[in-house]
Amino acid sequence: MIETDILIIGAGPTGLFTVFEAGLLKMKCHLIDALPQPGGQCSELYPKKPIYDIPAFPEVLAGDLVDNLMKQIEPFEPGFTLGERADTIEEQEDGTFIVTTNKGTIHKAPVVAIAGGLGSFEPRKPQISNIADYEDKGVVYVIRDPEVYRDQRVVLAGGGDSALDWAIFLADVASEVTLVHRRNEFRGALDSAEKVAELAKAGKINLITEAEVTDIFGEGKVEAVRINHKTQGELIKETDHFIPLFGLLPKLGPIANWGLEIEKNAIKVNNALDYQTNREGIYAIGDVNTYPGKLKLILCGFHEATLMCQSAYKRINPGKKFVMKYTTVGGVTGFDGSHK
Ligand code: FAD
Repeated sequence: MIETDILIIGAGPTGLFTVFEAGLLKMKCHLIDALPQPGGQCSELYPKKPIYDIPAFPEVLAGDLVDNLMKQIEPFEPGFTLGERADTIEEQEDGTFIVTTNKGTIHKAPVVAIAGGLGSFEPRKPQISNIADYEDKGVVYVIRDPEVYRDQRVVLAGGGDSALDWAIFLADVASEVTLVHRRNEFRGALDSAEKVAELAKAGKINLITEAEVTDIFGEGKVEAVRINHKTQGELIKETDHFIPLFGLLPKLGPIANWGLEIEKNAIKVNNALDYQTNREGIYAIGDVNTYPGKLKLILCGFHEATLMCQSAYKRINPGKKFVMKYTTVGGVTGFDGSHK
C-alpha cells in the first residue's frame, strides 16, 4: 500500500504544481495518472504548441512547461503511479481515503486532490465485435514501449499524427508494418504523411488506404485481421499485433461515481474557500472542477492548487498554525514552512 499526505489524481499541470505548493508546507504527494507520462493535456494533446499566457513566460512549448514543472517539484520527491486509472475511493473510519486503481494498486491518504482535467482519456475503439477478447493479447490502443514490436508483424489503423508517427517509427523496428486508413488523405501533419508515402514506396510500410479492419482472428491472441477495401474487397492479413490509433476521448470516468456533486461533467467545489467538494477531505482543482466564473486555464489550476494546499495543511495538521513565508527565504529545499 502506498501512503502519502496528499494523493493527487491526475498528473497534468495542476496536479504537478500541487506537489510544489504542498512541499512548501512539508506535505508529501503521490500522483496517479491513467496516461503513461506526466503532463496531462499538455503532453498528450499539444506538446509542441506554444502557450502564451503563463505568467513570466512570453512563450513556452507545452512539453517544455511540463519538463519545467517536473524540475520544479523534483526536490519534493513525489511518487508516481502512471498508466493506471484511479477507479474506487473508500473512506476509512479515521477519515483517511483508500484509492484503488484499475490495476489493483492501493493508495492511502488523509487528503485526495482530484486534478483529473477532462477526465481519464479513453481510447476511441473501432467497431469490431470481438475486439475486447484480444485486448492486451495483440490489441492495444496506446503504444507504450515500441521495443515490444521488434521483429514482429504489426497492423496499425488510423489517419492522425499518432498513426503516422508510429508507422514511421516502427518501420525500423518491426519486421512488417501495415497502415490501414479509411481515406486517401491523412489528418496528421503533412510531412509525416509524405514520409509514410516515401516509406511505402520504398517497401518499408504496406500502406492500405480506403480500407478498414473489420475482424480479428486468432486462438487466444491476434493471428490475423480481415481488411475490407472499398474497391478491392476483402483481404486477410496475418499479423502479431493490431493497433487502432483513433485518438483518445476525454471522460470523467470512474470519478463520476465517487459521490461527488457533478455539474456538466465537472465537479462542483467551494471556490469561496478552498476548492473542496461536497465530501470533506476531497478537493477538485484545475479543469475538472466547476464554480461560478470558472475558466479552464493552466494559471487558474495553479492558483486553485495553491489555495487548496493551505486547507489540506489544516486537515492534516489540526490546530497547528503556520506562518506564510516566501520561497526566496532559505530556498525551496531549505524552506521549513515555519510550523508553530
Ligand atoms: P489535464 O491537463 O487534463 O490533466 C488531467 C490528468 O488527469 C490527465 O493526464 C488524465 O489522464 C488524468 N486523469 C483523469 N482522471 C483520472 C483517473 N480516474 N485516474 C488517473 N488519471 C486520471 N490552457 C492555457 O492556459 N493556455 C493555453 O494556451 C492552452 N492551450 C490549449 C490548447 C489545446 C489544444 C488544448 C486541448 C488545451 C489548451 N489549454 C490551454 C488548456 C489546458 O491544457 C488545460 O487547462 C490544462 O491542461 C488543465 O490542466 P489539469 O492538470 O487540470 O488537467
